Amino acid sequence: MKVLVAVKRVVDFNVRIRVKADKTGVETANVKMSMNPFDEIAVEEGVRMRESGVATELVAVSMGSKACQETLRTALALGADRAILVETDVELQPLAVAKMLKVLVEREKPELVILGKQAIDDDCNQTGQMLAALLGWPQGTFASKITPGTGTIDVTREIDGGLETVGLKLPAVVTTDLRLNTPRYASLPNIMKAKKKPLDVVTPEALGVDPAPRLQTLKVEDPPKRKSGVKVASVQELVQKLRTEAKVLR
Ligand code: AMP
Repeated sequence: MKVLVAVKRVVDFNVRIRVKADKTGVETANVKMSMNPFDEIAVEEGVRMRESGVATELVAVSMGSKACQETLRTALALGADRAILVETDVELQPLAVAKMLKVLVEREKPELVILGKQAIDDDCNQTGQMLAALLGWPQGTFASKITPGTGTIDVTREIDGGLETVGLKLPAVVTTDLRLNTPRYASLPNIMKAKKKPLDVVTPEALGVDPAPRLQTLKVEDPPKRKSGVKVASVQELVQKLRTEAKVLR
């Protein structure tokens, strides 16, 4: 079966996020950008399916600025066969991404689309669900295990206090959780080979989708600063402070 994975370019998870002075968003200029960690897991799962023969082709898709080509080259170095960039400088929100993915799915006709459960920049956790709804396809979200069958796929999901396994009829949409797999690193020869793999560029207009945002970010703020702690001289003093100051003991 053909598998499509969605990969988003986000601020690297190791970077200390700085809010812009005018509070309109977070600083992305001169900041290290990487593939969204949940999308690395999505690519890894697709590559494993490709290696085991379950998948016949793995196509990686990204949407955003020209720089997303770098993210797609990473996906190609990890094992994707080809890539598609929907290039736009418009700020993309999940609904626009889902609509554009829908058009690409109709063109590419994959049987499985794998996305991250959430992008670590907007923390929306919406795109996979919206895509499944727009396509009218079944969805298995927060997957910690994927077991392909014949014309079906079983997805084990992490839910409060346990695991749930759902059986989906293909074609389907799956979103990845952290424990699904441990992504590999791209080897140098594969990074070189990835430069020659096909990467098509299209625009939202060519897909017939208006990517304009529907929501306006009013304000982005830093979390409140943590107050400095105090040292106590004894257990008695700690208990007394917990009682009288923190009021967490009676
Ligand atoms: P979100 O709903 O924004 O938390 O994103 C969930 C998932 O949708 C991500 O992990 C990606 O797999 C996919 N996605 C979101 N935005 C993009 C984008 N601009 N390009 C490619 N994939 C995206």
